[in-house]
Amino acid sequence: MDATLQQIQSLIRAVPDFPKPGVMFRDITPLLADAGGFARCIDALAEPWQGSGVQAVCGIESRGFIFGAALAQKLHAGFVPLRKPNKLPPPVVSVDYQLEYGVDRLEARNDALRPGERVLIVDDVLATGGTVAAARALVLKLGAQLVGASVVIELAALQGRAGWQDERIPLHALLRY
Ligand code: AMP
Repeated sequence: MDATLQQIQSLIRAVPDFPKPGVMFRDITPLLADAGGFARCIDALAEPWQGSGVQAVCGIESRGFIFGAALAQKLHAGFVPLRKPNKLPPPVVSVDYQLEYGVDRLEARNDALRPGERVLIVDDVLATGGTVAAARALVLKLGAQLVGASVVIELAALQGRAGWQDERIPLHALLRY
């Protein structure tokens, strides 16, 4: 692993048994608090997408907003929040997805993306992949063109990548655990 990724990794704290027993929570707040580390993380997230014509970055609530908004600036793209239920005023478009127990939903304004607009999805962590797959379905429901997705951390053992479905659309992860 190169020195930049090592530095980024060193700024992510592992918190055992949070928010419930058996979960190793990856806390990105030390990375955000480190000016150089955060800047290098955004540079590294942007790198695969330079020149790909991304017009909108869709960040997933809530930590995807932080990385997504900074990345949108870097890529000279707009930022669109994909939100948890009942946060956005109507009319919204939504996609339900399965959690370990129960269901959750992502919503976007029904006019948040233009037809064919070139979109990149961003989140902090890829775990089971349900969240990023729902974001993908939402972007496609809005008629936009999905260019790809980026996450800071992929929890490889949970095989979230398997739910991504389309190998022609890249899903990039900076770090893999
Ligand atoms: P999933 O839908 O299972 O891929 O879960 C991804 C979402 O849950 C992301 O928005 C993450 O912020 C959060 N998440 C899941 N597992 C973790 C973890 N171990 N540490 C930090 N965030 C996590």
